[in-house]
Amino acid sequence: MGFFGAEPWSEELKKRIEDESGIKAYDIYGTSEMSGPLFTECSKQCGIHIWSDKFLVEILSPDTEKSVPDGKIGELIITTLTKEALPLIRYRINDLTRKLSESCRCGRTHPRITRISERSYDMIIVRGINVFPRQVESALMKIPEVGNFFMIIVDRIGPLDSIKIQIEMHESAFSDRMSDMMTLKKKSRGL
Ligand SMILES: [Zn+2]
Repeated sequence: MGFFGAEPWSEELKKRIEDESGIKAYDIYGTSEMSGPLFTECSKQCGIHIWSDKFLVEILSPDTEKSVPDGKIGELIITTLTKEALPLIRYRINDLTRKLSESCRCGRTHPRITRISERSYDMIIVRGINVFPRQVESALMKIPEVGNFFMIIVDRIGPLDSIKIQIEMHESAFSDRMSDMMTLKKKSRGL
């Protein structure tokens, strides 16, 4: 098994890691200020367990800064309950997730959060539409010919925002026939 954290990732990327490496990929979550990656999925893989004897977790609406009901997406706020050298009180992380309070199928009663869906400051607004990099990743990872890396280039051409995505391709997908390459380009653009 492998534990993966640090950046938001999509279900499609997780599947790809598992398919290509043969390991089971688990989510792990934490920040340096909290003491590093601490919260993990259990074997049931239905949310990341929060160790609530050590941390208080709140989910707030980024707009109203009020609590949102369980299951609704919002910004993760952490308070450390036992940390002495660097306590955190209602520390705002900018990560978006949902809180699940019912007991997990593994039997643990600690609340869980769902995989970090986005980091609120990663959001790009293009022509009035909110775009998150994970949405791009999610779409690209469905194309087998696309490799594991991509770059989003945001620009302004005249009065309009533009977005250009450069993608890495799997070596096996390269062809010396231009028509094959154009077909792949069209396939990627059609997402
Ligand atoms: Zn569990």
